[in-house]
Amino acid sequence: MNKNSPKTIHLKDYTPPSHVIDRVGLDVTFHAEETAVSAHLAVRPNPDSPASEGPLELDGESLRLVRIAVDGKELAKGDYSTTDQKLTIHHPPARPFTLDISTLCSPKANTELSGLYLSNGIYCTQCEAEGFRRITYFLDRPDVLARFRVRIEAEKSEAPVLLANGNLIDSGDIAGTGRHFAVWEDPFPKPCYLFAMVGGNLAFVEDSFTTMSGRKIALRIYVEPGKEDRCGWAMESIKKSMAWDEQAFGREYDLDIFMIVAVSMFNMGAMENKGLNVFNDKYVLALPDSATDTDYSNIEAIIAHEYFHNWTGNRITCRDWFQLCLKEGLTVFRDQEFSSDVRSRAVKRIQDVRTLRAQQFPEDAGPLAHPVRPSSYIEINNFYTATVYEKGAEVVRMMKTLLGESVFRKAMDLYFTRYDGQAATIEDFVQCMSDASGRNLSQFFRWYEQAGTPELSVKSQWDKRSKTYVLKLTQRVPTTPGQPDKQPQHIPVAVGLVGPNGHDMALELDGEELLHESILELKAKSQTFRFKNIGSRPVPSINRGFSAPVKVTSDLTQKDLLFLMAHDSDPFNRWEAGQIIGKRLILDTMTKIKARRPVAEPKAYAAALSETLADRQADAQFKALMLNLPTEQDVASDIARNVDPQLIHNGRERLKQRIGRLMHSRLMQRWNATKITGPYSPDPASAGKRALRHASLALLAAADAKEGARLAMRHFRDARNMSDEIGALGVLIQLEEPERDEALQQYLDRHEDDHLLVDKWFALQAQMPTPEAAERVRSLMKHPRFNWQSPNRIRSLIGTFATFNSVGFNAPDGAGYRLLADVVLRLDKSNPQVAARLAASFRSYKALEGKRRRHAANALKSILEAPGLSRDTYEIVSRSLQ
Ligand SMILES: [Zn+2]
Repeated sequence: MNKNSPKTIHLKDYTPPSHVIDRVGLDVTFHAEETAVSAHLAVRPNPDSPASEGPLELDGESLRLVRIAVDGKELAKGDYSTTDQKLTIHHPPARPFTLDISTLCSPKANTELSGLYLSNGIYCTQCEAEGFRRITYFLDRPDVLARFRVRIEAEKSEAPVLLANGNLIDSGDIAGTGRHFAVWEDPFPKPCYLFAMVGGNLAFVEDSFTTMSGRKIALRIYVEPGKEDRCGWAMESIKKSMAWDEQAFGREYDLDIFMIVAVSMFNMGAMENKGLNVFNDKYVLALPDSATDTDYSNIEAIIAHEYFHNWTGNRITCRDWFQLCLKEGLTVFRDQEFSSDVRSRAVKRIQDVRTLRAQQFPEDAGPLAHPVRPSSYIEINNFYTATVYEKGAEVVRMMKTLLGESVFRKAMDLYFTRYDGQAATIEDFVQCMSDASGRNLSQFFRWYEQAGTPELSVKSQWDKRSKTYVLKLTQRVPTTPGQPDKQPQHIPVAVGLVGPNGHDMALELDGEELLHESILELKAKSQTFRFKNIGSRPVPSINRGFSAPVKVTSDLTQKDLLFLMAHDSDPFNRWEAGQIIGKRLILDTMTKIKARRPVAEPKAYAAALSETLADRQADAQFKALMLNLPTEQDVASDIARNVDPQLIHNGRERLKQRIGRLMHSRLMQRWNATKITGPYSPDPASAGKRALRHASLALLAAADAKEGARLAMRHFRDARNMSDEIGALGVLIQLEEPERDEALQQYLDRHEDDHLLVDKWFALQAQMPTPEAAERVRSLMKHPRFNWQSPNRIRSLIGTFATFNSVGFNAPDGAGYRLLADVVLRLDKSNPQVAARLAASFRSYKALEGKRRRHAANALKSILEAPGLSRDTYEIVSRSLQ
């Protein structure tokens, strides 16, 4: 390991800041090479800190110190010292004082995209988690809350628009120069990670929203000039989000103006800076001919997510970065609920569980597993993970399930009242849940502290004579790095018993009253639940609505599962039953392929899918989800060791082929019947129709590649919107047919001027499922359109390859792993955050069969041996190798 292993930070070492900063005045003069920042800080010793009489240590990175003064008096050389991480004032006054610090930073040289940088000529900032220290020296930690006032000055020709958080209180030209200024003031105290400023040549669209108390809020979306016509959907989404948060949580917006700025160079999806959200433009810009249905729903959900942070994150923030899920898990839960309310709840739940299984389950099962609230980190940017976000949301959802809808709302109200304006912890949040409900949630708290996906096994028995039905639930929480011994968790398991007539039976638990919403609370390692008056053998529907993020194994037969697929009143478990059958069939097909034995026709499964297609009650999007077989990742998660990704792919493709053949006429009929001829609308019903059409096409193509290519090409040529274009291309890239390259070329010719659509072109090619895919990706890295400075482009090509091309990334000769290692090392020098995220794509390598596992380990070692590795990449790679 490296000699200078970076320092690990532990939750248990938390101490309050030595000083409080009440007010921040910033004077900023934009300049690409040398931006001047003068900070005027009102500082006082923190009465709650034992270190308040000691030195004041401020964070700072990549700054040039010009001047420092206390109470207006410049400090002498011996009064302070600097390192590349800190500025220390040795003997600060033991009373309130002012601190003036002037520094220079270079937006142009900032390739890390953290702090102040240039995105396509626009000045913008990203301060979460620790970017503010790259703008000025500061106590860069979330529990230091200050009121900010910012004056920005710039050349009018270079940056005609100047924005910051809060409300605009002054602006004007500077006489006799080509310069101008703007002054922004944010009345709400905030941690510096929520600070933002933007300057550049930007156009905007404007609208307004009237809040429940009758205040009129100006809404603005800023984009590069010429893109104003692509903001309509984003603007609608802001208004929907504002209305929903009032209605669902009683939360009103608090400033006079709410702004979104869309930029093309951004390390993440979007950022909830107070009153001035900065977005990756991919999550703002949409027109029917440039955005897919998925883009539309992502834009709606991400705008909602960032907006909801105004209360969960901004008004109530995190005490320290270990509490990240306090704002993220809760806000993901809130945006999921929003999408469920404005779209189909059943479909949304299935999609969210698919995401959880695709991203969080593998993380939880590998060397990077960590609790929802981690207890240590080297680089906090590495913990913006599926565990903190997605599993964090599941934990909040479980508390809602345990408390019930109305008590949960009361608990949230209590949380908002009790902690408004403060930096809180997970304990504070859970205490509100406990206080509002009177429930003891101390065992439940383990969900925040124990990593690993709990495994739930279910055994059932019906006794005809006594009319008793017994469910025995047993839980096991697997060992994860640093946590060899696990305690039983408090798991809410929603259960229904489906009778032979297909209806839910009335539930009566032995010795107790009728169950509240049929939630079984599993707290011990093993528990038995007895139901009375069960006159005939039911089929149990376990973990309805995915009430707990666990892996369930049950003794259900294929016949039981087909029955649930047809009759379960819980749409999630209808889908889930189909997925379990699909997984079993894929595993069986893999065994047969390996043994060179014939594979049986999946007739019963195909018939059940056909019945679903014919169901008049179910919506089209649900049907499309039913037609999608379990992913290769789902199957790999189940196998868990000695995984051969190529064999999984072959098994799954073979099953798809069989189903496609068995259902051929129905799928053809569906593909023909779901064609929409009118103008494009992104509404869920139309989007569902298109999704069903694409799912049908994919199965037809699996059945017969030549026919599939022909149909997909027709689909592509007839496309009048981006959803259909990408839908057709998504099918074509799976096929080794001449139509594939023809369509890709046509697509590029048509869209080469639109960077978001060029991203899609790279992403499509990264998904071709062949062992030679790495070679193709390597040559695309030399394509004139590839750009090492653009995180979106890197993620489109290399991120997609490593995450969604299991066959290509896991090529048996290790070419995919070597490619990723090369990319990580190259990026680590310019953008370590993105490099480390890519390096996390190795997360499941320990589950692979021996040869691949060794290739992957060698690739990881080659990264770790490189000199001068960043903290970010070092942490991910060293943890992966442990
Ligand atoms: Zn967030």
